Amino acid sequence: AKQDGRNNFRFFTPEMQTHSVRILQLSSALRHALARNQLQLQYQPQVSIRDGRIIGAEALLRWQHPEFGLVSPAEFIPLAENNGQIVQIGEWVLNTATRQLKEWMDQGLPPMVMAVNLSAAQFRQPNLVDRVTRILGEAGLAHQYLELELTEAVAMHDPLAAIKTMDELHACGIHMSIDDFGTGYSSLSYFKRFKVYKLKIDQSFVRDITRDPDDKAIVTAIINLARSLGIRTIAEGVETSEQLAYLRQVGCDEVQGYYFSEPLPAESFAAYLKEQK
Ligand code: C2E
Ligand code: CA
Ligand code: CA
Ligand code: CA
Repeated sequence: AKQDGRNNFRFFTPEMQTHSVRILQLSSALRHALARNQLQLQYQPQVSIRDGRIIGAEALLRWQHPEFGLVSPAEFIPLAENNGQIVQIGEWVLNTATRQLKEWMDQGLPPMVMAVNLSAAQFRQPNLVDRVTRILGEAGLAHQYLELELTEAVAMHDPLAAIKTMDELHACGIHMSIDDFGTGYSSLSYFKRFKVYKLKIDQSFVRDITRDPDDKAIVTAIINLARSLGIRTIAEGVETSEQLAYLRQVGCDEVQGYYFSEPLPAESFAAYLKEQK
């Protein structure tokens, strides 16, 4: 307890206490999530703005717990980062997503790219490239079909290390995209040294793009910057045809969002792909 004034001691408020209890409970339950088959992946289509074709999918983690219900990755990924579990979970995600894509391609579904989110701890692993290439080998999937999404904040946390890892991934044909771009205060001098295939324009800029002149200006600037560096762009969080029209007008390459589809369980995604075919 902290002394506050003369004889007032401030303790955790009930809300804070409930919150920290939940964190402890979730964090401990998460240790069993993999073994108990409580983790699942959903897939959200990434669409070419030019012809509307599905050219990729982003794998997004879901945790279904018997008591807590569906826990958002925004809540449990940070816990997994803290308790070190993220590396094991991240490997499971890579394994599952690459095998899933291989299965779809074997079934004759059109080839596309599988985008997988990479956590800070995974990105820092010294043998990351070996691990990823081993997983691709075991899945029987060519390197070109995997794309790793790394947030701008993680890339910029240690830019020199990021440059080295990106160089290694690039050298073995694995594409990197920078996630949540625009929120991480990139220094452009480092940025031009990143071997980046694609920028994901953060959804916070897309939300009001048709109304807010600042957001319009930022998105246009990002797309022009990417273009001049030979990097593709994808806008995330696209929910309306107006947003789509604007993004097309300013030359964005790809789009992802509820306007096309929410993240879908594997079977529904395959059905969606077949429908498009
Ligand atoms: P993210 O990588 O930026 O993923 C985009 C988030 O936006 C996803 O939330 C997605 O469901 C949501 N989204 C997609 N379209 C729309 C839209 O049109 N409107 C709105 N409002 N939202 C949309 P989700 O699935 O809850 O994931 C949240 C975050 O959790 C992800 O943000 C990512 O940072 C993290 N995450 C998810 N799966 C993984 C994973 O396998 N590994 C790691 N390290 N992180 C993951
Ligand atoms: Ca992502
Ligand atoms: Ca994002
Ligand atoms: Ca995000």
